[in-house]
Amino acid sequence: MKIDILTLFPQMFQGPFRTGIFQRAIDRKLVGVNIHNIRDYTHDKHHTVDDYAYGGGAGMILKPESIFEAVESIKPDISIEEKDDELPVILLTPQGRLFSQEIALELSKYSHLIFICGRYEGVDERVREHLVTDEISIGDYVLSGGELAAMVMVDAVVRLLPGVLGSEASSLDDSHSNGLLEYSQYTRPAVYREWAVPEVLLSGNHAQIAKWRREQAIIRTLERRPELLDKANLNLEERRLINRLSTSSYAREYKGQNWLNK
Ligand code: SAH
Repeated sequence: MKIDILTLFPQMFQGPFRTGIFQRAIDRKLVGVNIHNIRDYTHDKHHTVDDYAYGGGAGMILKPESIFEAVESIKPDISIEEKDDELPVILLTPQGRLFSQEIALELSKYSHLIFICGRYEGVDERVREHLVTDEISIGDYVLSGGELAAMVMVDAVVRLLPGVLGSEASSLDDSHSNGLLEYSQYTRPAVYREWAVPEVLLSGNHAQIAKWRREQAIIRTLERRPELLDKANLNLEERRLINRLSTSSYAREYKGQNWLNK
């Protein structure tokens, strides 16, 4: 996957993409990230990227010219193969559709993505109207720039690319991948300060462990994010378990415990 990011602050991207699985993905050429300074696409002596808002009001607006030219300079590079599907040009904005694991998965299918990071009071509306193909927000709050939002999105997308995580299976159980939060995880020691790891995990019985984990994931989601369960792919028995847990004192009684062993 090729990723191009347009920003006024390229130096912000130094750290995150040079660490851990991301650096490995770059080294193994699974992903290539190019950071473009919007200021490099200006033509005036002062490299002006922003201006006052028509109609007045506080704050500056990013001018359209350099953003259009930056995107247009990237686009001719695209190979014929990539022209088949539309190249997503994504504007980071608190007014966009809300980012989610589902959107990360959707974006991970493309071979090329372009991100535009806004600053100040945002970008000229004509960028939104005539250049971008998608607008995404990472949450209902306002950041001072799109850079951190782009990093969040790129991180979530890249770890879904084939071969990036150590094992192909390791993102399948992640929270939000199957509509459930992930089950609780333990590592050595088996007993720490008198707190023991649930016995079933030490049993070596893989079927029992899988069953326990599935149930833990369901209970955990019910306790913390019940609204997620509407979209989760659950069988009849699991739906019944949820009904039992949510309609009785059962849930309170077994909250946070291994109810199977009771
Ligand atoms: N005045 C704008 C906000 C500007 S914030 C408005 O009310 O809509 C400056 C820049 O930060 C934005 O252009 C955008 O690129 C980025 N940004 C701020 N909050 C964001 C969020 N929740 N998600 C993604 N990008 C965000």
